[in-house]
Amino acid sequence: MSVLDLFKLDGKVAVVTGGNRGIGKAIAIGLAEAGATVVVAARDTDRNEAAVAELSALGVPALAVTTDVTDRANLVSMREEVLARFGHIDVLINNAGVGIHGDSLEIDDDSWDRVMATNMDAVWKTSQVIGATMAAQGSGSIVNIGSMSGQIVNRPQWHAPYAVSKAAVHHMTKSLAAEWAPKGIRVNALAPGYTKTEIADIDLPEYQHYWVDEVPMQRYAQSWEIAPAALYLASPASSFVTGTILVIDGGYTLW
Ligand code: NDP
Repeated sequence: MSVLDLFKLDGKVAVVTGGNRGIGKAIAIGLAEAGATVVVAARDTDRNEAAVAELSALGVPALAVTTDVTDRANLVSMREEVLARFGHIDVLINNAGVGIHGDSLEIDDDSWDRVMATNMDAVWKTSQVIGATMAAQGSGSIVNIGSMSGQIVNRPQWHAPYAVSKAAVHHMTKSLAAEWAPKGIRVNALAPGYTKTEIADIDLPEYQHYWVDEVPMQRYAQSWEIAPAALYLASPASSFVTGTILVIDGGYTLW
């Protein structure tokens, strides 16, 4: 077998939460190019359908399921729809997330709750709901999208709840990796640095110094640069890798 064959996902079914734009869509396209059937699970039905049209053009089956990842009942019905259509779920990309900037003395409880519900609680709930199917199958790969913000304190913007939520995702990754390894489920995470998407005000002049000049590679990432690492962790190419947090930050966290 060629080493490149280990990156193939032919016949596999992958659920990508927040797969309708940004990093999630780039990952969805990458998995589809590797042969996977891809399910786009996010709230905006029109955007989900548009993403699925792009994926279908790659010649693989794709399905849009309108899903709010904060709602367990929604997650269960999404899983049941996917199983009814395709029969199994092999890959879960926990990508859906929201950002927040603000001083910690001013952030209200609703804002804290919204960030935690989406970035932390939903990763837990989705992992439980899809993980139950993977455990019954005896196989599966979960890739959580954490952030370098889970490892450092960003500047110049403050966003403590976001960073806390991502640090929790990193530890959830390790905890579930250890617990579920005997069930045949691998759990890993990506920790991207600054990446140009709707969530990141990446081009604001006041951020240039911190978000670009201070990055050893002197730039931010494009979404497609995150996708190959997701494919690596999702596929048999990483068959002996679990519980790892793979940083993709152009070297930002080195100093
Ligand atoms: P975007 O804002 O471009 O996309 C966020 C995605 O999440 C959308 O598809 C959105 O779809 C979905 N989403 C948000 N809330 C929910 C919800 N309740 N239920 C289902 N889907 C939801 O963000 P990015 O692509 O930049 O971010 C993707 C991930 O990468 C996030 O977890 C983010 O924290 C992380 N990240 C991003 C970095 C960056 O610099 N961009 C750096 C490090 C990590 P919809 O609105 O239709 O539900």
